[in-house]
Formats: sequence, C-alpha cells, structure tokens
Amino acid sequence: MSELLGVRVVETTGLDDRVLTLTQAASAPSLGRLVDRQFGGLVLTGQGIAASARGFRQTGVSFPVLTEPGRVREEVATESDPFGCSTADSLFPRTLDNFLEGQRSIGATLVLTPTGQVGSQDSATLKAVIREANRIADDDVVTMVPVRPSWLSSSHLKHFKAVLATSQHPVALCLVESNGNPLVARKDTVAGYSSLFAEVPNVIAYRSDLSGLGAIASGGSAAVIGLLPSHRRAAIAGKKGYSSNPTDRSPHVLVPELMRFVRTSRMQREWFASTQPLTCGLPCCSGQAIDRFQNPNEALVHNHVALTSMAQDLLTLPNDQRWAWWIGRLRAAELAHLELGQRIKQDIALPDDITAWLKLAG
Ligand SMILES: [Zn+2]
Repeated sequence: MSELLGVRVVETTGLDDRVLTLTQAASAPSLGRLVDRQFGGLVLTGQGIAASARGFRQTGVSFPVLTEPGRVREEVATESDPFGCSTADSLFPRTLDNFLEGQRSIGATLVLTPTGQVGSQDSATLKAVIREANRIADDDVVTMVPVRPSWLSSSHLKHFKAVLATSQHPVALCLVESNGNPLVARKDTVAGYSSLFAEVPNVIAYRSDLSGLGAIASGGSAAVIGLLPSHRRAAIAGKKGYSSNPTDRSPHVLVPELMRFVRTSRMQREWFASTQPLTCGLPCCSGQAIDRFQNPNEALVHNHVALTSMAQDLLTLPNDQRWAWWIGRLRAAELAHLELGQRIKQDIALPDDITAWLKLAG
C-alpha cells in the first residue's frame, strides 16, 4: 500500500484468485469490515455507488472495490455502439475512456467496461465489444461480456471461446436471464460454462451464484457472486427479473451444507416447523438456527461470512485440487439433502445446477 496525496492507494495487479461479493452500494459499509483482504473484494451496484466508493477510498481499503456500470443490466449492445457512447442527449461525445476514467475518479480499484447485453448469436456485436475494449491499453480494465446462456450451448461454444480468447483484458462473463438460474436454462449450459473457464484464460464468473466457485474450480481466475437472487444473474434488459414469490419478503439465506440459498419462510414453514433447524457455526451466528433471519441486513452478513468461508477453503488449495474440492462439496450437499429429507419426512429436491455439475463429474 502506498500514500498518494494523502489517499491510501491499493496496489493490486488484478482479481486473480478472489471471490468478490456483489452488493448494493447502500449495504457495502456493513460488509466492508468483513471482507477477506487476501481472497475477497466488493463490487458495488445500484444507487449511491459514487458516494460508497469514495467512502472506501477515503478510509483506505486493502481489497479491491469495483463499481458496476448500469448498462450490464439495463441496455442492449450494438455492433456500432457496444458501450453506449452515442446518446442523443449528450452535449459532448462520450468515449469508453471517459466512462472508465469516471470509475477511476471515484476510487474503483479496477474498471469495468459499460458493455450492454449481447444478443443470442450476435457475433458481430460480441467481436466489437472485445475489439473496442482492446483499444484501451490500461492494465486496470476488465471487459464485461453480458450474454444469454445460449452462447454456452454446444453449437455456439467453440466460436464464443475463440472470440473471448482474443481479449487483451480479463473478461467478466455475466449470464443474462430473466426466468431463474441461467445455468439451468439448457441441459448443456453447465458443461459449456465449465469448459469455457477451463480453456479460456483470465475469465471471471460475474453476477454468479455458488457456481462461481465451480467456475474457479474449472480454471476461472475469479468470481463475483451475488447474495440476493437478482444479483446472481442479469435480467434481460427491459424485462423485470423473475421472483418465485414477489409478496414474500423474507431473506434468502445461504445454507453452506446444502450449497444453496433458501428463503427463511420456506425453512420455517416447510422444513423446520416441527423439527430442530440446521444451525450456523460460523462467527456470524455462533451456533444459532439458520432459519431465524427476519432482518435482510443480518441475513446479508451471514451470507457474506458463509461465502467467504467457502472461498477461503477453495482458494487456499492449489489449482489441481480445486475441482475435487468443488465436486466433494456438491456430493456432500447431495447427501445432506437426503439426510434432511429423511429427518423431516419430505423429499427435498436437489437444485438442477448441482445435479448438472455432479453429472459433469461423472
Ligand atoms: Zn451465520
């Protein structure tokens, strides 16, 4: 760390071997003190990004803090304008450089290109994203690539990998889907996802769920994982994201032994109405029940601590042991689903993404 004009500056060379948490800027201060300096970081999204990022810069942080451009969620990229530079209401032409400089000026450690969503099979736009970002020589740039999961299907995967491999910057791969988990959109999506991280260097799983750990275990360089359902993918621009029950406001809670997030209300009503609930032995909960959360901020802290613990387990392993760790955790989760089902006398289905990863492992 060095001093520059009285501001402490983080010296990082990239995001390699980190699991960053994607969080609303407003919630970031409560998570900041819990970030693992070696293996963690924050990506700020939503309202108040600038003030939150400046706050981190002023107090000094020793982990990466990035700021997410809204275009990944809100706009569609075109071949002629992948980054939203040409807008009718702008007096002066904007450039990709301007956008990136804006992120640096508020204290972002590394900067994300403001790429709009690339449509299915829109190869010309995908190539334009990589080509135009490659024109920027700075070494703090991450090229955002928000795409539909169809790019990971066997018919498009080879071409997709070939284009991403031409990027001179790390690529943040963000899957775009409005109806639930993009990794179960098609039968071959998880296989395509894993093989992409195995074969294309410097790809970051962006806005992912726990499968971001699977991406690193497959060979990916880092993951940015959301603790809220809407942060674990990008909804299709112009379409509202899917919610399993919009009237249910109870928090989604990470249950490490099941390797999934579950709503408090579901655990209280369906799983643990008449049996002892699972507990969390991490410092966030000190052995208290996992189904107790009513306050979203308390659930967020638990989710962050539980995710950090998993990330530490994974990232302290050498690369050639990470796949075995990931599959071992998922096999243990499969067993935990069976045991819990027997205890509460209900069938608890294994989530489709876990099934797909286990199938891949054979
Ligand atoms: Zn906890």
